[in-house]
Amino acid sequence: MGKIYIIDVTNRDGVQTARLGLSKLEKTIMNIYLNEMGVFQSEFGFPTTKHETYYLQANLELAEMGVLKPIRLGGWIRATVGDVKTAFKYVPGIKHLNISISTSDQMIQGKFLGRKTRDDIIQMMVEALEAARSLGAEAVGVNAEDASRTELDFLLKFAAAAKEHGATRFRYCDTLGYDSPFSIYEAIRTIAENVKMPIEIHCHGDLGMAVASSIAGAKGAVDGGQDAYINTTVNGIGERAGNADLVATVLAITKSKGFEERYELGMPIDFSKSWEIAKFASYAFGVPIPINQPGVGANAFAHESGIHADGVLKDPQNYELYSYTELGRGEPELVETGREICAGEYGGISGFSHVMGKMEVEFTSEEDAEKILELVRYANVAAQKPLVEKELLFIAKYPDIARKLLTLRPLDVP
Ligand SMILES: [Zn+2]
Repeated sequence: MGKIYIIDVTNRDGVQTARLGLSKLEKTIMNIYLNEMGVFQSEFGFPTTKHETYYLQANLELAEMGVLKPIRLGGWIRATVGDVKTAFKYVPGIKHLNISISTSDQMIQGKFLGRKTRDDIIQMMVEALEAARSLGAEAVGVNAEDASRTELDFLLKFAAAAKEHGATRFRYCDTLGYDSPFSIYEAIRTIAENVKMPIEIHCHGDLGMAVASSIAGAKGAVDGGQDAYINTTVNGIGERAGNADLVATVLAITKSKGFEERYELGMPIDFSKSWEIAKFASYAFGVPIPINQPGVGANAFAHESGIHADGVLKDPQNYELYSYTELGRGEPELVETGREICAGEYGGISGFSHVMGKMEVEFTSEEDAEKILELVRYANVAAQKPLVEKELLFIAKYPDIARKLLTLRPLDVP
């Protein structure tokens, strides 16, 4: 029986979303949370984008240090030989890549304007895939952009060519959120049975079905005898109406009727981090968690009406499918209501030592404290909001990595 894995794409699809973004430190903290939760892979950024370079290199160093382990860090690029070469030039240590190209006639004609045929698309993908493998990529996922609007026969041909030339996985992108759970199940099961390779499922919420289509797609892959890799984002943040929400997707896999008995996660997810990661994403993106969000919304475990309140007090299982404690909720949280000292871009050593002292961080020397303070100032310049505890602790613990993350010098721009 195939298993289901999670590839989170917050640091790629999430950050490319209009009006939203994350600082390089925030992206790094996101990777740390995803690793702590047991997520298989984080699509951690764009290796051809110059301002990502130091961040990507620094995170690969964290992986080597064992801080980001066992999570895999995968980069996203277009399926062109040029992009592959640039990725390895800027980020030589990169091991995992997803290469992406449009496969629907709509996009082949609408984007390439008659300059490319379906055969050209396959050829471009194969050339990029071979280049990635020859430059040392250990795993390459091949993405069919707009797969849900691609004729299935061509998609099968495209996926078979990817497999034949050494792709590790095939990513079925429901780029426009066009699939329903019924249509995606059929498509992915057919691909799994015919092409026989692990399949990634990438769904969007334009019709409100991102999570439902994701687990239906995963079922299609597993029923077809293959492993499934669902793409999620934290709080569902992604292009337009967003992606499949990480917490909601894992809840659906592990708690929904009939699913939890037959379809299993390949790596256990530590649910107790759900509350913390959702809150961090909300802070970092500056987007409140909707009150009715599954598991982590303010109302997810709130009861008011007489019948519900009475029922849940008698036995929580009357009106709750799962417990808030599983998601890491229910712990008291300290909110400062009096005097507050914040770390900021213009902060000084006295206030900074006070802030760090509250977290029981002590510095060996004044010089050491000054060094960390300087990095915290730069991190504040990037974030433009007071850093949270996890970020301050990260900088104090890994100052050399933090320095690299905070470096945004253009690489070859004079
Ligand atoms: Zn997407």
